[in-house]
Amino acid sequence: MIASSDFTENAIEPFDFILFGGSGDLSLRKLIPALYFRHCADQLPEDGRIICAARTDTDSEGFRKILEADSKKHIEADHLVESHWQSFLQRVHYLKIDVTQPEDFDGLKTMLAGRENHVRVFYLSVAPSLFTRITENVHKAELITPKSRVALEKPLGRDQASADVINDELAAVFDESQIFRIDHYLGKETVQNLMALRFGNSLFEPLWRNERISDVQITIAESLGVDSRGRFYDQTGALRDMVQNHLLQLLVILAMEPPVSVDPDAVRDEKIKVLRALKPLIGRDAIENTVRGQYKAGAYESGTVPGYLENDDIPNDSVTETFVALKAEIGSWRWEGVPFYLRTGKRMERKQTEIIVNFKKVPHSIFETADGLSEPNQLIIRLQPEEEIRMRIYVKAWGDEITLQPVHLNLDFNDVFQKRRMIAYERLIIDVLRGNPVLFMRRDEVSAAWAWVDPIQKAWQQYQYAPKPYTAGSMGPSSASSLISRDGFSWYEE
Ligand code: NAP
Repeated sequence: MIASSDFTENAIEPFDFILFGGSGDLSLRKLIPALYFRHCADQLPEDGRIICAARTDTDSEGFRKILEADSKKHIEADHLVESHWQSFLQRVHYLKIDVTQPEDFDGLKTMLAGRENHVRVFYLSVAPSLFTRITENVHKAELITPKSRVALEKPLGRDQASADVINDELAAVFDESQIFRIDHYLGKETVQNLMALRFGNSLFEPLWRNERISDVQITIAESLGVDSRGRFYDQTGALRDMVQNHLLQLLVILAMEPPVSVDPDAVRDEKIKVLRALKPLIGRDAIENTVRGQYKAGAYESGTVPGYLENDDIPNDSVTETFVALKAEIGSWRWEGVPFYLRTGKRMERKQTEIIVNFKKVPHSIFETADGLSEPNQLIIRLQPEEEIRMRIYVKAWGDEITLQPVHLNLDFNDVFQKRRMIAYERLIIDVLRGNPVLFMRRDEVSAAWAWVDPIQKAWQQYQYAPKPYTAGSMGPSSASSLISRDGFSWYEE
């Protein structure tokens, strides 16, 4: 997995990258800048076209102006080289299309004619309800070639049954090896570094088990609210939006056994074993081991923000959760008895994504210290706002007394590498163009993740478990603290 990240290897073949939803938020903010950066890195072949497709009534020239106004600003000024941007824009073409209209695909057919030997990527950056309309229509228009791939944004369905329907429909026209299901967390440098840390160093492996680790905490906290995504979010909620994909993917990478190689299936075979080993949370177990929350109005330094129910797109009796905390357990020799606490929420105190691995305390302390070694050794893997890995250890504080003090061994990637950190989508797009699926979810992974999440959702309905209110700007409802403190732990807060 790590070796295959070497961008100097495996030149990319000439391609057509068809970006459905090319005028949407994700495309303008992330995908176009990601492609621009790979263009600047000279990684895209000369004959590599980006065809943005949407209903907006414009042409390629008009669309480039849209990119100039709406996409360019998402590239940090330090990294924007005007001549590169202009040459990048020449790759970009626009196609006006309503993907629900099969006849509209004639235009795409014309654009792609004679380029059947090029790599062809259909990137679906549109609402999930349009996924199968597009795949059906590209199939009917006979646009799927052996070198074609389809890349899909999450969410893939809203439960196992609906994900199965989407996956069946995809499978009707694409081979599994042509399907790239995106969880952009897997494109993040630090997530891949987690694999490097675990499997590239002999140091951690003997420690990476229940004899040495007491608990693991994974937090994805956002300070933003649902804002303009209200309608979508209210149908989804934090469990489906964040736990089923991002949080479970982080858990799996942390907990998986060493794969035999970096071969995509070797890695994904190990990942799925973890998902299948998660102890089910069913009925009362689900209620006792999960906390739902919904934010109400609150204050940040920048001012007060309205509550979830005050959003115009949200029904005022909505019981959709904007926060989830839960305790997961993995039934395996390695992890039996180690709780994995997951939490995610909107409008939390700060934007922060981190994994905390707490090691067990020393069995007997010979030192008299201020805190009696009450804080365990701790590995902190932070993905946001900055990417860093830190290890908390005890040292003797300078002075004539033997007083132990916790300090951090700190690996700040900015200092170490001193170069621009790639955005997750750069890596993922390049892997789609190369046809390397290692960082994408296989069908059985998606299905196994839903199979674990569905009973929680069901229990919430069965027991009418309404979300608990929490104040915007806090770290969630107080019961999230009780969930972990009843086991003798507390959330790591900095
Ligand atoms: P968005 O801003 O609403 O963009 C949707 C795009 O689809 C627009 O370009 C729209 O353009 C196009 N579109 C809508 N109906 C169409 C039709 N019938 N035919 C052709 N094009 C059509 O959505 P988004 O936020 O970019 O999200 C796109 C996908 O990424 C969604 O699946 C979302 O869940 C996922 N996602 C988004 C983010 C994010 O940060 N935004 C993060 C993770 C995942 P026209 O109106 O011009 O047709």
